[in-house]
Amino acid sequence: MKPKSIRSLKTFLAVKRRIAIVTHWSPDGDAMGSSLGLSNYLLKSGHEATVIVPNDYPEFLWWMKGNSEVIVAEKGMKRAHEAFRNAELIFCLDFNDLSRINSVGEFIAALDTPKVMIDHHLKPSGFAQYALHKVSASSTCELIYEFIHAMKGLDLIDRDIANCLYTGIMTDTGSFRFPATTAFTHKVVSDLIHRGAEHSLVYNRVYDDNTENRLRLLGFILSEKLQVIPEHHTAFFTLNNEEHDRFNYKKGDTEGVVNYALTIRGIVFAAFFSERDGKVKCSFRSKGEFDVNIFARANFSGGGHKNAAGGISDQKLEDVVKKFKSLLPSYLEQLKNS
Ligand code: 5GP
Ligand code: MN
Repeated sequence: MKPKSIRSLKTFLAVKRRIAIVTHWSPDGDAMGSSLGLSNYLLKSGHEATVIVPNDYPEFLWWMKGNSEVIVAEKGMKRAHEAFRNAELIFCLDFNDLSRINSVGEFIAALDTPKVMIDHHLKPSGFAQYALHKVSASSTCELIYEFIHAMKGLDLIDRDIANCLYTGIMTDTGSFRFPATTAFTHKVVSDLIHRGAEHSLVYNRVYDDNTENRLRLLGFILSEKLQVIPEHHTAFFTLNNEEHDRFNYKKGDTEGVVNYALTIRGIVFAAFFSERDGKVKCSFRSKGEFDVNIFARANFSGGGHKNAAGGISDQKLEDVVKKFKSLLPSYLEQLKNS
């Protein structure tokens, strides 16, 4: 059944409700910014709101208001289940298929509680009763702003909410440089700054919070782990378990690394393969027309956007890389024309 527009939630939210908010596995700036931006807005509107994340997220996102109340399901499944059971409405932010939140997804799929999906990824699976879904949106945070606008609540946006929403827009647009950044994105940001968003402070908190280890790991990856395949306009990095340990890897330490491969002249396709906990996490990025969402879906059980996608493999790192390289010739025409 086609989901209802979020506008129809206005009457439901006219009285105090108990609300749960959940976002995707390995939450990033947009996932946390949208979840905490929305929860702070709902709390200010008089509702009860709890944010639940499937697993932990990087320390450079811990400064947002409400962070200490977030339930990390992997560390406290009972509390997470209670919060979902207790909710009258569940917001699902920055993902569009319950498989993206693993066992938490199975749990909430079994609940009758109505769900609201707010998301900007391709191909929603259609699990939600209400949806605000725009592939053209720069970020889920931009859509949360639209949601608040639809609820006629913009005047409730204060500095803390504005900082949360600004974070997701800034991180998902690569600081306003990716193609999905539109005039509307800048309008939203203008209004957020007007309402108190501290753009310089947010940037510092997110990007100028490296540990020495993280910076040295980046240096190691760039100098020792880069592989370039000029004939396929492709460049990629790998990082195995031992290398993660050597630099005392912490969640988020390799975030954004894949983009460096894409900065090489003539390269249109970049990948990063990272071996963790017996699996290989794959990140794909592209410039122009080459569609990494299709590539990730077809070959690495993943998905995402046209120019930024991810996936996962149970194979060994060497085998994943072998498979990746062997796939490139069949994409040669697309890579040449991207
Ligand atoms: P990243 O490479 O930063 O982890 O992810 C890039 C984009 O692809 C993000 O928008 C993310 O939501 C999406 N993505 C990453 N991993 C997966 C995955 O395993 N499955 C799907 N469907 N999307 C993913
Ligand atoms: Mn996003």
